[in-house]
Amino acid sequence: MLKPNMNYGNLKESYLFYGISQKINEFLEKNPGEKLLRMGIGDVSLPLCEEVIKALHTAVDDQSERARFHGYMPECGAPFLRNTIAAHYNKRGVAVTENEVFISSGASDELGDILDLFDRSSSALVIEPAYPAYVDANVMAGRRILHISSGEENGFLPEPDKNVCADIIYICSPNNPTGAVYDRSGLKKWVDFANESGSVIIFDAAYEAFIEDDSLPRSIFEISEAKTCAIEICSLSKTAGFTGTRLGYTVIPEDLTRSGMNLNGMWVRNRTTKTNGVSYIIQKGGAAVFTAEGQKQIKASIAYYKENAKIIMRALDKLGITYFGGRNAPYVWMKCPFGMTSWEFFDCMLNNIKIVGTPGSGFGSCGEGFFRFSSFGTREDTAEAASRMLTFLKQ
Ligand code: PLP
Repeated sequence: MLKPNMNYGNLKESYLFYGISQKINEFLEKNPGEKLLRMGIGDVSLPLCEEVIKALHTAVDDQSERARFHGYMPECGAPFLRNTIAAHYNKRGVAVTENEVFISSGASDELGDILDLFDRSSSALVIEPAYPAYVDANVMAGRRILHISSGEENGFLPEPDKNVCADIIYICSPNNPTGAVYDRSGLKKWVDFANESGSVIIFDAAYEAFIEDDSLPRSIFEISEAKTCAIEICSLSKTAGFTGTRLGYTVIPEDLTRSGMNLNGMWVRNRTTKTNGVSYIIQKGGAAVFTAEGQKQIKASIAYYKENAKIIMRALDKLGITYFGGRNAPYVWMKCPFGMTSWEFFDCMLNNIKIVGTPGSGFGSCGEGFFRFSSFGTREDTAEAASRMLTFLKQ
């Protein structure tokens, strides 16, 4: 009799998103037609920029002509895009070669797939509160998971702890959900820790484009000696509105080896077996993000979301409510007022002022008492939500 992967039985129900949709449904049953301000979404509200749309149209036309048609694409990514992304790093003074860049269909796919590089007996360290996919992908593989809690006391940026060491270390900076960003010295401590212990850091840089403070690292490879201990996973989802178009990239240094195995070479082997490459059309659209005009246009969209974050932060400032993130990240992580739990505050916002956010406790127990606002909504909804909060919470 076939034995399925029994580790799936150890997955926890996605209580967070299931719980949120249950509560929204109940509310709408009681209040039919009521408009909710959805401030919890991690999806973008602005369309792709013009430069990307132009490139996508041209690529579609390429596929209609025999001379310009593209069939299977190289498994690790089209050279034009790998080159462009390496050059984008180099322009910022980060030494990355074309062979170190792998094109993916997005960070989620890659966060799961990349675990093929590691033995199932290896352990994983997750800094909480955390994006739930890190835990779930490792539970599916049957790995042992260790947790480090973070909180207000360390600004949600904990330092490594010799007593809590694992083979795979997840670092998300700017962080989802807390919006906290490691500075160079904070990240260097993790790099040194990983090099000393032989661990590998999976650096989730999905929100790097939101960093506006130049002193903060946008890539782990800005930190010396990171090339012998880190893999960087990036996404165009929030950077350029590719949530539904799907494109990301991963950097695996050629210097990254463990137990005599080269992880870059292993990933080439993995990709040439497990994918036939990302769509030519989408890769062409992705390349347009890195042109001068593309960069100008995506920065305008990011500025729009940042203004949304400012609107939320201004309201919280006026209310005297403590929060983290928002400045170098698209998420504002606020402390629930009046000692409310995350779910109590969720109910309070939904039932009184029809705002939906994300309860912090859904990202790990140390997120209890916090609430996440996303800045990816429309300006109108964000401004209306801020105004309702100001009026309601002042009382
Ligand atoms: N990593 C983090 C921290 C995220 O918040 C998300 C999406 O919200 C992803 C990865 C997934 O990104 P993608 O759309 O590229 O799959």
